[in-house]
Amino acid sequence: MRVQTQLRVTAGLALVVVLAVAIASWLAVSADHRAEAEQDRARNAARHAAALLLLTQEYPRYFEPRVAQQWRERQVALLQELSGRRHDLESMRQSAARLPLLFDRLSELPDEPENAFTARRSDFIVDQLINETQSLADSIYRWSRDAAAEGQAATERFRWIGGVSLLAVLGLLVGQTFVIVRRLLGPLDRIERAARRVERGDFDAKVGLDSEDELGRVSRQFDAMTATLHDRRAQLLAEMARREAIERRLTDITNTIPALVGYFDAAERLEFANGPAIKLFGLDGGRLGDYTMRTALGDPLYALHAPHLPRLVEGQKIVVEDRIEIKGHLMHFQAHLVPDIAEDGALKGFYAMTFDVTALKLAEERMSQLARVDTLTELPNRRQFEERLAEAMARSRRTRRPIALMYLDIDHFKGINDSLGHQGGDLVLQEFARRLRASVRTTDTVARLAGDEFVIVLEGLNVGQEAEGVAQKIIDAMTPPVRVQGRMLDVTTSIGIVVSGADEPDGATLTARADDALYRAKRAGRNRFAVSTI
Ligand code: GH3
Ligand code: MG
Repeated sequence: MRVQTQLRVTAGLALVVVLAVAIASWLAVSADHRAEAEQDRARNAARHAAALLLLTQEYPRYFEPRVAQQWRERQVALLQELSGRRHDLESMRQSAARLPLLFDRLSELPDEPENAFTARRSDFIVDQLINETQSLADSIYRWSRDAAAEGQAATERFRWIGGVSLLAVLGLLVGQTFVIVRRLLGPLDRIERAARRVERGDFDAKVGLDSEDELGRVSRQFDAMTATLHDRRAQLLAEMARREAIERRLTDITNTIPALVGYFDAAERLEFANGPAIKLFGLDGGRLGDYTMRTALGDPLYALHAPHLPRLVEGQKIVVEDRIEIKGHLMHFQAHLVPDIAEDGALKGFYAMTFDVTALKLAEERMSQLARVDTLTELPNRRQFEERLAEAMARSRRTRRPIALMYLDIDHFKGINDSLGHQGGDLVLQEFARRLRASVRTTDTVARLAGDEFVIVLEGLNVGQEAEGVAQKIIDAMTPPVRVQGRMLDVTTSIGIVVSGADEPDGATLTARADDALYRAKRAGRNRFAVSTI
């Protein structure tokens, strides 16, 4: 049964019991009152009857009118007490009503005390009157006794009803208390205890009521709710664990990648920095929020970024490439600044990913150097030669001092290659290069153009003939045999010389003229030099 229904039924029952008790009490009280009134009447009637008896005995002595008057008043009073509609009093009423007839006969007797007849008649009437009155008094006594017994019974009944009412009310109270304790307080206590466990985060808490009433329903809903919470928390914990794992992995990745990774908010306050960045800039990893981009990077590095930052607000990605000295090392860096734009288009912050490209840059420089150097002899190659020749020509025009270009080719080098093999040929080329460099000033350019062809740019000449001196010096330098693979080899060279004038058009023409001169030296028998005559 529903608790609400049970409480209503109990309240209804209480109302009925209280009403019944009230009615019964009222009936008992009124019966008691009636019995009491009856007793009073009976007592009064008995008193009047006793008085009538006395007055009846007293009256014949002197026939005093005062006594007669008193008798009549008593008789009227007695009749009054016997009045009413009660049948059991009818015979007494009739007896009482008959008394005046006898008394009238007594009072009507002639006042002759010496008359024996009158005296006998008087005695006779008095006896009759006394008998009648006595009989009436007996009846009244019985009535009075019955009324007293009835009063006693009414009081008993009243007490009994009072006791029963008290018991009924007590029973009702006990019943009500039982309902409240058993059906309400107990379950409420269980719900409260379960709610407190949930409050402490224990989602395994169950109320576990299986009654069909409202609290049973609330209990089942509560248990379903905690079961859902339990599941959701499990999902949440799993999700959190998954995210933590992802975060840990991302942190590991950001800490492992060879780059400095950071995130700055729109006010350039540092929100995140990866391990390498923290280490390189010597940051306090626990208080990253205390740094701005300027304090984290330091003034010189910040100054290289600052001019680009306004473009982030426009949503542009920025690449800053520069070099800076950090902790005594020159670092080439490439910083990618990527704006983090909110949905409303405002700049939330920006990611900064900076790569140390020092090694790349050095490799690049090395590559570019390699591209300009002949790896076998470590002399400048054709490209560098052309640059240096152009520079030298420009300088010559400025200083108005001539330069000489020598074009050299090893004589019969194919034969050397054939007899020593390519590797042996290479060793000869290296030795040849060494001797060339030793024959000129360090400011002069010695280059290898290809195969066994070399060039030399001589600068700062006072006169063109100086070049011929250098050419001879070179030819002489080649005289000692070259030791290769345990063999002694004679290596000679032919040299074409051109001395530039102030109006020399370009390097290529100059080189072509030197090449022409070389051709002539070869044709003239090799191991000699020829000077361009054009
Ligand atoms: P000439 O006196 O007319 O110059 O005769 P030569 O045999 O030297 O002829 P040429 O200068 O035309 O030949 C150059 C040779 O050098 C041809 C080629 O096989 C060889 N050669 C070119 N580059 C290299 C190299 O890097 N190493 C070696 N060992 N030989 C090379
Ligand atoms: Mg040659």
